[in-house]
Amino acid sequence: MSRRPGTGLIDLSSGQITEPLPEGAVRALREAMAAERATAYAPSYGNADLREAVAGHYARRTGAAVDPEQVTVTAGARHGLFAAFAAVAAGGEILVPQPHWSHYPGVIRSAGATAVPVAGDPERGLLVDPGRLDRALTSRTRALLINSPVNPSGACYTRSQMRAVREWAAERDVRLVVDDIYWAYADSVDDQVGVSAREVVVGGASKVHAMAGLRVGWVWAAPEYLAPLREVVEYTTGPVSGLSQSAVAAVLGDTRAVAARAAGLAEMRSHAVRAMSRIPLLTPVPPAGGIYLCLDATEALRHGIYGATDDVGLCRALEQRAGVRLRAGSTFGMPGFLRLCVAEPPQVISDAAGRLAGRLHVVVNGLSSLRSTS
Ligand code: PMP
Repeated sequence: MSRRPGTGLIDLSSGQITEPLPEGAVRALREAMAAERATAYAPSYGNADLREAVAGHYARRTGAAVDPEQVTVTAGARHGLFAAFAAVAAGGEILVPQPHWSHYPGVIRSAGATAVPVAGDPERGLLVDPGRLDRALTSRTRALLINSPVNPSGACYTRSQMRAVREWAAERDVRLVVDDIYWAYADSVDDQVGVSAREVVVGGASKVHAMAGLRVGWVWAAPEYLAPLREVVEYTTGPVSGLSQSAVAAVLGDTRAVAARAAGLAEMRSHAVRAMSRIPLLTPVPPAGGIYLCLDATEALRHGIYGATDDVGLCRALEQRAGVRLRAGSTFGMPGFLRLCVAEPPQVISDAAGRLAGRLHVVVNGLSSLRSTS
């Protein structure tokens, strides 16, 4: 909920797209609930129809033949990432382009590997390139994690940038783990994802299919990784809820719904950039894709508004003064920025921008009257 009932708070800090469950998913759920073995454990590595639907998706996207046997269903993409990291990099290092999703270091640590941040290039939307990756490479590097569109910045790797990254990884015998969770929310969709057997692809229903609460994700990986991946799944969550899997399997192939959601998100991003451009001292950094927008808070911090010395303090102050909750960029390795989720009705974003602009105009007027009297 973006508007917290009873508090007046507009909460744009988390990243979810909430929509009513689609008709097809409701029907599939009803059928699954009515089945004789509705309460039984689902098959260990996922329902056959879901694994086929996942394989079908990657086959359509890449033109490659995809074997459903190479798909393992996990409890959300988060658990898929955990299993992938444990399978390909336990005891070694994983290169993580920065900025990045706040949870990667913790998930990587839990999987027994070490996250090595690689600072993105400020001249190229904070994305990484072979030169930057080479400087971070050590004898312990096992994998490179790529997420595009990037949470939080919304930057997207182009096809040629992805090709360069893939060549780099292949030449240095580094595995690629692709966090594909936002894949549809980019202008140029990665059509080579997972085509090389050296790549492990993690996806899920949370973002592109707007079903975060059903906790369905997956890993698509070559046979050599299946045993270690499945061992992690077996000894951690066991099979994912069969009911959730039925709902997701029913809608995964609905390419029209995905395209409509992607078009809606593009409008939401543009609207949020326009709305937030009216706020003094905070500057939107237009995202190329994804579901987030970052605001550059350098000016606000330079003026020390509300006594804030960093993005964490500024976030706290804006929540208290303006009733708008954002996320501090430093949580994502992007200090000095604030992140908001744009996947909200336009009015909610406009209201949040209005509140922030109102408060910060008062502050700016105070600053200029101070200057004129000094
Ligand atoms: N990867 C990224 C980049 C994310 O932003 C998130 C959720 N915010 C996830 C993975 C986790 O997805 P899930 O809800 O399917 O676990």
